[in-house]
Amino acid sequence: MDTPSHAVVTGGGSGIGQAVARALAADGHAVTIMGRNAERLAACAAEFSGTAVCDVSDEESVARAFRAAKEACGPVGILINNAGVVRTAPFQRLSAQDWEGHWRTNVLGSVHAIAQVLEEMKRRGTGRIVNIASTAALRPYRYVSAYVATKHALLGLTRALALELAGSGVTVNAVCPGYTDTDMIRDAVGRLVEKTGRTPEAALAGFTSANPQGRLIAPDEIAETVRWLVRDSAQSITGQAIAVAGGEVM
Ligand code: NDP
Repeated sequence: MDTPSHAVVTGGGSGIGQAVARALAADGHAVTIMGRNAERLAACAAEFSGTAVCDVSDEESVARAFRAAKEACGPVGILINNAGVVRTAPFQRLSAQDWEGHWRTNVLGSVHAIAQVLEEMKRRGTGRIVNIASTAALRPYRYVSAYVATKHALLGLTRALALELAGSGVTVNAVCPGYTDTDMIRDAVGRLVEKTGRTPEAALAGFTSANPQGRLIAPDEIAETVRWLVRDSAQSITGQAIAVAGGEVM
């Protein structure tokens, strides 16, 4: 039986984050979900111990949300940095603002959240940080250069922090999903259909064919990997990038 803890999942109101939040709640953890969209959080609030509106790209907003979460459910022992954004466009069409948006959410978002929990985890001699990166942290893809660059950076942060914290009782890992069946991919398929006139089936095949198993990953499959990484028994697993991608990267 694992020690029950307080888990925070950023972007926990949808897709992968919601599946992770549900898995951690099922394991007996108090779970706080965070995201920008209050309605989305409210829609599944009953399943979790708490919700907090939070823009991870804004340090103050993150500080406020963690203060409220800790007051309600106690110190955070498990942090899942899942909030992320992607814009698909050739390099020349990405503006400085696009780059800054990716950086502020996909990298600084995790930095801000980690800063809110790290001292306490170190003091208590235990903690789990899981960053939801992507196979895009391990290999490139066309037309998502800002996403690929920032997910590589998130993996760099994961590894550096894991090394720095080895011996503190806190582990830091990255989970790297392949194309997963969430709004992020549904939106991308919709945009492809609109822009290229392809059928939805043909547009979807562009994603499923990247996976040697020929399918999208289910959010629950990502959640199972996170569930394992936060167990007491996963103490020796740190600084890892665990691909959940049907063999797309080996
Ligand atoms: P969703 O679009 O469903 O989830 C993204 C979540 O991030 C939303 O809940 C959103 O909530 C939250 N979010 C985005 N920006 C911010 C912000 N500034 N502050 C707080 N929350 C924010 O897609 P997924 O579930 O697919 O994505 C989850 C993670 O998984 C992302 O990091 C993504 O890069 C990664 N991933 C996804 C893959 C896929 O194929 N789907 C593959 C590999 C990795 P809100 O809008 O309420 O703020």
